[in-house]
Amino acid sequence: MATKTGKQYLEELKATRPNVYMNGEKVDNIWEDPRFESTQKILAMNHDFVFEEAHKDVAIVQSPQVNEPIRRITNHVQTTMQDSLLKLDLTRDIANRRICAWCGTNVISLVWVATWETDRKYGTEYHQRLKRYVELSQKNDWDSSLAKMDAKGDRSVRPAQQKNYPGVRVVKKDAKGITVSGCKVHTSYGPCCPIMTIMPCRAMTEEDKDFAVSFWIRTDTPGISQIAKPSPNADHIDLPMQCPMSNAFGVVEGTTFFEDVFVPWEQVFLCGEYDMAGLYPHYFGTIQRQSKCSCLAGHSDLVAGIAALVADVNGVLGKSHIQDKLTHCAQMAEVAQACAFGAGAAGKLHPSGVFMPDPLKVNAGLNYIKDLTGEHIQMLHDIGGGAIVTMPTEKDYRDPRLKKLLDFTLAGNDKYSSEERIRALYLCRELAATEFTGYYMGWGVNASGSPHTGKILVRSLYDLDYRMGIAKEWAGIGDSRPWPGHCNTNKVWAGN
Ligand SMILES: Cc1cc2nc3c(=O)[nH]c(=O)nc-3n(C[C@H](O)[C@H](O)[C@H](O)COP(=O)(O)OP(=O)(O)OC[C@H]3O[C@@H](n4cnc5c(N)ncnc54)[C@H](O)[C@@H]3O)c2cc1C
Repeated sequence: MATKTGKQYLEELKATRPNVYMNGEKVDNIWEDPRFESTQKILAMNHDFVFEEAHKDVAIVQSPQVNEPIRRITNHVQTTMQDSLLKLDLTRDIANRRICAWCGTNVISLVWVATWETDRKYGTEYHQRLKRYVELSQKNDWDSSLAKMDAKGDRSVRPAQQKNYPGVRVVKKDAKGITVSGCKVHTSYGPCCPIMTIMPCRAMTEEDKDFAVSFWIRTDTPGISQIAKPSPNADHIDLPMQCPMSNAFGVVEGTTFFEDVFVPWEQVFLCGEYDMAGLYPHYFGTIQRQSKCSCLAGHSDLVAGIAALVADVNGVLGKSHIQDKLTHCAQMAEVAQACAFGAGAAGKLHPSGVFMPDPLKVNAGLNYIKDLTGEHIQMLHDIGGGAIVTMPTEKDYRDPRLKKLLDFTLAGNDKYSSEERIRALYLCRELAATEFTGYYMGWGVNASGSPHTGKILVRSLYDLDYRMGIAKEWAGIGDSRPWPGHCNTNKVWAGN
């Protein structure tokens, strides 16, 4: 059975025993620990989502690899423009409803391309192994976390030139497999996924070749330990009214240590081919950032909805300056989604069979919308008013004597009860004025790569020279060269 319900997924996960630490203690059983509950809930909801009437025709797709129905967003290899476009509305809706869609399809598709290019250059067998992994993942309906980002030490010094570069490296190879040590950081969902996909986060030189490594592994493999950062507001699990977002969405983040971990060859996708390491961040920066545009469209939708709701409970929804701000928010959402779709429409089929979106449009779009993430927070403060910072807590509201006072004081638009207004304000407060705000900013600004990385890609892909030639022609000081042609940014594949 290739498409599992959330319940089936949770039942199977309980058989895994990852080595996890939190708040200075070893966690005996993460499946019984409430601090991990919201992460499990999100992953389970991602399973159940595909069975929803409104989404199922698109969210489930027949796998050409295993000839069974699979989850599009999680396990599908994208081979057509239609694939590249169909995931986008799903991503936007999930991001609106619970911040992150966790697009495993992008990881599988980019490793498909990278292993194909590596085999073509080196005659290796990585692509066959990846194909076998894809079949396993599809048949078991796995969720894999992504351990791409190394602990990088001094950012301006190459891995091999650092005395103690903390990133993951190969320490031994033999006929059966490789042994790896080192650390990956920011592993979202890590402790709650049965599988982890490991890949390089940067281009490497020959002297860095031990760090040029990619593989998949079970998270409870001996030698792996994860220090888990509690989900935001894990301390407020008992405050569902005051913390509605973190009660529903709280991804546990892992800092993942590999101490002499053995990886059999059949799980290895890259080992030492240093000039291929850069393919991973390159293709990640293309295919994942297309989804990220849709994800940020969903976040703009989220902010538009919350801003409209608080404006309504305050009685100002119809006011022109509020409508103007809501329109701006709606425009941000549509611009972000348009960039994702535009990048798909201008994409190209990679010779490995994966359909790749246009990296220039993806990164330009994402950089633009990323810059606006801070505006979301400002808008919520502006429209929500000071109460989202100063209002009393849920515990006060639960006290019958104080509730009476607060119901009187915090009444708003007659259409809503005081409790309804308070709930709307708490929602706005949590997104704009709590630890969750920082978390939300992190998803917008850094998840999928820091803003500057995207700008480097835009600058390297945008044909400024051609445009300068036209300027010279206008100025009468030179000629322009011939038009470079339609969508040329994908013509030269990174590994060619
Ligand atoms: C909520 C969240 C979830 C995430 N989930 C995952 C995940 O599941 N898996 C995963 O692998 N990663 C994940 N990430 C990591 C994310 O990709 C990184 O945070 C991002 O790429 C930035 O890298 P960094 O955090 O190491 O920042 P840094 O690299 O330290 O960047 C900080 C600043 O330094 C600058 N800088 C860094 N190096 C250089 C240099 N050599 N030259 C000039 N300037 C430089 C950057 O441009 C930036 O301005 C997640 C991040 C967040 C916030």
